[in-house]
Amino acid sequence: MKTLQGIPASPGIAIGPAFVFLEEEEPTIPRYSVNERELEGEWKRFMEAVDRARVEITGMRDRASREMGEQHGAIFDAHLLMLDDPEMLDAIEISLKESLINIEWVIHQYEQAVVRRLEQIDDPMLQERGADVHDIAHRILNHLMFKERFSLSDLDRDVVLVARNLLPSDMIAMNRERVKAIVMVAGGKTSHTAILARAFEIPAVLGLGAAAKPIRNGELLVVDGFSGKVTVEPDESSLEGSRRERERLAEREAGLAGQASMPARTLDGHTVLLKANVEVPEETASALRHGASGIGLFRSEFLFLQTGRPPSEQSQYLAYRQVLEDMAGRPVTIRTLDVGGDKVMPDSAATDEKNPLLGWRAIRYCLSDRALFQDQLRAILRASAHGDARIMFPMISGPDELDAALAALEEAKAECRGRGQPYREDIPVGIMIEIPGAAMIADILAAKVDFFSIGTNDLIQYSLAVDRGNERVAYLYEPFHPAVLRFIKTTIDAGHAAGIPVSMCGEMASDPVAALVLLGLGLDEFSMSAVAIPDVKTVLRSLRFADAVEAAGEAMDRRSHREVEDFLKKRLSAIMGG
Ligand code: PEP
Ligand code: MG
Repeated sequence: MKTLQGIPASPGIAIGPAFVFLEEEEPTIPRYSVNERELEGEWKRFMEAVDRARVEITGMRDRASREMGEQHGAIFDAHLLMLDDPEMLDAIEISLKESLINIEWVIHQYEQAVVRRLEQIDDPMLQERGADVHDIAHRILNHLMFKERFSLSDLDRDVVLVARNLLPSDMIAMNRERVKAIVMVAGGKTSHTAILARAFEIPAVLGLGAAAKPIRNGELLVVDGFSGKVTVEPDESSLEGSRRERERLAEREAGLAGQASMPARTLDGHTVLLKANVEVPEETASALRHGASGIGLFRSEFLFLQTGRPPSEQSQYLAYRQVLEDMAGRPVTIRTLDVGGDKVMPDSAATDEKNPLLGWRAIRYCLSDRALFQDQLRAILRASAHGDARIMFPMISGPDELDAALAALEEAKAECRGRGQPYREDIPVGIMIEIPGAAMIADILAAKVDFFSIGTNDLIQYSLAVDRGNERVAYLYEPFHPAVLRFIKTTIDAGHAAGIPVSMCGEMASDPVAALVLLGLGLDEFSMSAVAIPDVKTVLRSLRFADAVEAAGEAMDRRSHREVEDFLKKRLSAIMGG
């Protein structure tokens, strides 16, 4: 038995065999000469690999259509057509005969030439086609080289997934029923992989670094997403203890229903709103079960990451409408596309940026692709006819950028009006405050919008210069750093001075200890992973607002993260009678 310590990233306890998932690396393509007599054999190998690729793609198409709708399946239809493209088959056959080089190399050369040619044409559709050619060629090559391409969607038994670094798109694609826990070498608590693990209620320990390397396929693991401990091959008594703990948690979860309907009201009658962050529409059930009074952040980018390309206006409209209808009149804040950073669309040109976290992200990306942005804005506007929708722009850095986003929204409204499509004219519009510069001028920005939502995940990352997904500097990621608290206070004060509500949708909002200071600073809404709502509600219902205001005042005078955290923990346990 061995115990490894990582970063607790998603609560829960799971027991299961390790499945070590090795991400694909670019394969090395073999190159050797063949003679004329061997040509037929090479061609036969090629056609067999094409057949196997066809079976594989058909399976993926059927699954995508079944689980995500016809439009998602259509992508794979295009791949199937390309497999039988006579132009491709002819080109490969001629090249094989002329070069007398093995078929793998011929396919590789063909793929490189086509992709290069398509990339030079200034047409996004054709460039996308290059990505399809790349995908198909690699699928065929993998079969030729007996590298079965394992897809996480094919998992057919319960496992603890052990990986170096799962991407958000892996999280979306995998068979979530079968993944009992996630253990990762890389990653931090506020990385999007962690956020998705919490959304899907899968316990996760991330940032294990080299400690995770010795884990072997099939070894029994106990993953404790509360403490960040991973036990490899536990002994009988430790296993028994974990099983009991898991049962206790299941009972607690079953008791949630009673608590869910109680308001988030302090002992002296101050009410705040507790909302849920969601990444995919199916999460609304969990949000309601955990007592969310609305959706404070719908990370719309995951609709885009599911397929790796922008969904149509119509399919976005249906997804937003679905969430609004599921939430039955409760408010739903839809954040416009926030790709970039660690959420890279597979085919995006942004992948080669040197500083992606400071680069072509979020609102910057949308403002540079007007067609994509207009599609999304119209889809949200049209959905606003079916419930209490709000629009939120991410990563706003200053007033000019905000004006450009607001102008784009007006343009989308005009288009909807022209088409006769109903939408809510006075749909509330807000922005994320997640760039320190924006927090400093929150008073200027507040005059232009209906609400703020503080994104502490990025705000902390940018104000302390700590990559939120990098386990090596995770120790410096300090929510209670006095600078962070000052940014939060400045934002809340500016919002209130302008008469607009201030929410927080970063992970800090889910920390029961932080709840004391955030409540005291006057935060109006807390939005978090649904699983975190009950604990935060319990704390808020045990406090007096007046005590929280006093505690917040004292916390602001402390000189370091450690001092603030120690102070808040002590004060909270004194108040809660602990
Ligand atoms: C944040 O930055 O705090 C936030 C909520 O947005 P995201 O985590 O999606 O960047
Ligand atoms: Mg953010």
